[in-house]
Amino acid sequence: MRSEAIVLDKQTGEPRNIPEYLIESGKTLWRAVILTDKNKRLGKTFVSYREAKKWAEEKSTAKGVVEVTVVSKIVSFGPPSKISDNQVREMNAIGKLWCPYCRCFREYEWDPWSDRVKCPICRVSTEDCDVRRNNPKFWRK
Ligand SMILES: [Zn+2]
Repeated sequence: MRSEAIVLDKQTGEPRNIPEYLIESGKTLWRAVILTDKNKRLGKTFVSYREAKKWAEEKSTAKGVVEVTVVSKIVSFGPPSKISDNQVREMNAIGKLWCPYCRCFREYEWDPWSDRVKCPICRVSTEDCDVRRNNPKFWRK
């Protein structure tokens, strides 16, 4: 029921099992997203996870920065195997969804422009099949 987990190399921080053609294609893979205290979102896109992480870490100490996250643009991530379906279910019950692109639990928000419920950071909506697949809340009874 879950997305395939991408393993990050412990030394380089690079995803280990992303197909070579995706990396070679130069397509967007990672986006460092900054959330400011004025509730603005800024971001920069990188092919390399390591570069995105480095940029995010540099920005995380800047004035007015509330949160910096590196978001996956193409590949979705299920919760780590140490988190059980029941634990995800409990998080769902308190209003948090596993975000497969932020790779953490988030409180999604209703977006009046699109009339959808979306992740405040990566902007994926609850219509996304990988969001539904990773959160028991959306599973058919
Ligand atoms: Zn997200």
